[in-house]
Amino acid sequence: MYPVMLAVHKQRCLLVGGGGVALRKLDGLLAHGARVTVVAPEPIPAIEHMAETGRVGLERRAYADGEAADYALVIAATDDREVNRRVFEDADGAGVWVNVVDDPPLCTFHLPARVQRGSLQIAIASEGEAPFAVRRLRKLFEIHFGHAWSEWMEAAARFRKAIRGMNLTRVEEETRYDAFFDGTVDPVTFKACVPTDEERRAFLTADGSGEIPSPCGDAPAAAPAPNAGPHVGGAGLVSLVGAGPGDPGLVTRRGWRRLRKADAVVYDRLAATALPCDLPERVELHCVGKQAGEHPVPQEKINDLLVELGRAGKRAVRLKGGDPYVFGRGSEEAEALARAGLAFEVVPGVTSAVAVPAYAGMPVTHRREAVRATMVTAHEAIKTDGPQVRWDLMAGDPHASLLGYMGVTSLPKVVDKLLAGGLDPETPAAMISRGTTSAQHVVRATVADLPRAVVEADLQPPALFIIGPTVRHADRLDWYGNSPLQGERLTLVSPAGTLGEVLELAGAEILEIPLPVTPASRVVMSALPLTGCIFYDPEEIEAFDEERQGAGWDHDVVAWCLTPESAERARRLGWRHVEPIDALAGAAEVVAAVKTRRNQGI
Ligand code: SAH
Repeated sequence: MYPVMLAVHKQRCLLVGGGGVALRKLDGLLAHGARVTVVAPEPIPAIEHMAETGRVGLERRAYADGEAADYALVIAATDDREVNRRVFEDADGAGVWVNVVDDPPLCTFHLPARVQRGSLQIAIASEGEAPFAVRRLRKLFEIHFGHAWSEWMEAAARFRKAIRGMNLTRVEEETRYDAFFDGTVDPVTFKACVPTDEERRAFLTADGSGEIPSPCGDAPAAAPAPNAGPHVGGAGLVSLVGAGPGDPGLVTRRGWRRLRKADAVVYDRLAATALPCDLPERVELHCVGKQAGEHPVPQEKINDLLVELGRAGKRAVRLKGGDPYVFGRGSEEAEALARAGLAFEVVPGVTSAVAVPAYAGMPVTHRREAVRATMVTAHEAIKTDGPQVRWDLMAGDPHASLLGYMGVTSLPKVVDKLLAGGLDPETPAAMISRGTTSAQHVVRATVADLPRAVVEADLQPPALFIIGPTVRHADRLDWYGNSPLQGERLTLVSPAGTLGEVLELAGAEILEIPLPVTPASRVVMSALPLTGCIFYDPEEIEAFDEERQGAGWDHDVVAWCLTPESAERARRLGWRHVEPIDALAGAAEVVAAVKTRRNQGI
């Protein structure tokens, strides 16, 4: 196979077939200016629509013998082998380049897998012999060639133009190109940096004698990739890491570092939102939490799994909601590891009793009002075996906050006991479900009325209650619940940049998803309902559309499209809510658009 780039601009091309595969090929041809005729008896609506708007010629009929000979290039994408074969023979017989999709013997040209960054195209092909390798390599290139390459290509083209206008000798030109390239591209990581004006000037006058700045500033040239190779010491280590209550931003730096270097992650369902989305595919993911319709993995099994991973010399992270030692049976896991003589550590996390009320505007202590905070498992109120809680003692202390874990079903019992112990029935109280996340739901009432209010609101676990005087501060301090985009859970293709930050500051939960989508991203995306996806280009939509179909996302997920091309693609792929936004207007515009839609309650 001899690689070429074809100038299909204005060339007459024939596409036989009118399904989804044909549509993809059609997009490619049109994007490069080809004049395409589609022949298909029953084309899909997207192709019909393109014909109605005059972008392609459409003939709603079967392929007619011999017609392939009249074109410059032919692609057959029908699911009828016989038709495909006829198309091939007609074209080949007339010396016309022909490709039958997914049938290498019936091709006189192949279409390589591509990675495109602006005018840079990387084509990957295997002469049809190892398509799996091509797909995987494409993913690698997708990751290593960041989107900065598009801008870099533009800068490179401008640079070349400037050099060409300088009347230099060939050697002088090459010296300057070397300076530009070596000064802006890291040869190990393939990271590209667009030069500043000052750097550009230096490259324009480079004569080979000066020192070339290291690419991309002072960033280490070859930072080891996460999860690469053996770690220091080479032996296994199991880290019990606190994931915090839901907001992934609440994982500690130490915990995050362990996650990034893990060979295996054993996570609870509640901790799923804290997984880094860019964990490579080779990292083992073990979900051991309760999932709808499934039984939780018994604690002994989890202990055994951790011991097994430690013994295998792996770096394993046991990711647990909140803090590992707060009502999470983390101590039993640590015991099992200690008994097995394995290396382990505990990375504490932000426990929900502290973080969840804070996001809802309720400080757990207060210099005058609450000088004690008690964390309790409310479950104890309905248990008859095991240690009992002295609810009467808690009831007798008005200057305290009572923070109850696992209390949705046991709340009525707890309140009975507290009131029987003499607690003022008017004491402010709240129950907060899914705190610190887009699904946060707060119910406030007096302690006596809270059980009823919780049932009425149909509040679901995980939820935490707080009973005590500081609850009333939420009137003024509820910064998270009152932020304009609270409740939004939006994906952005990584890196999320300033737009991601602005949206997060406005209260949205932002999922920074690298492409291609990783298994870890899938876990994170499905941990809570998504409200929308933000897209820059049509390729991103293609990738997310596969996820949408695979995971059966709710139809209400909005496609926020920063370019007209991406909006068009989203519509064609059947996204029900497509909202174009003007990318040039900036981040504030995006926030305003999302907010408007939110307020309208659509
Ligand atoms: N180790 C965890 C607690 C595990 S027990 C921690 O430190 O937070 C599980 C209980 O934690 C739930 O029943 C609920 O009471 C509480 N919880 C965890 N995440 C929560 C959240 N996002 N919102 C409200 N309560 C939460």
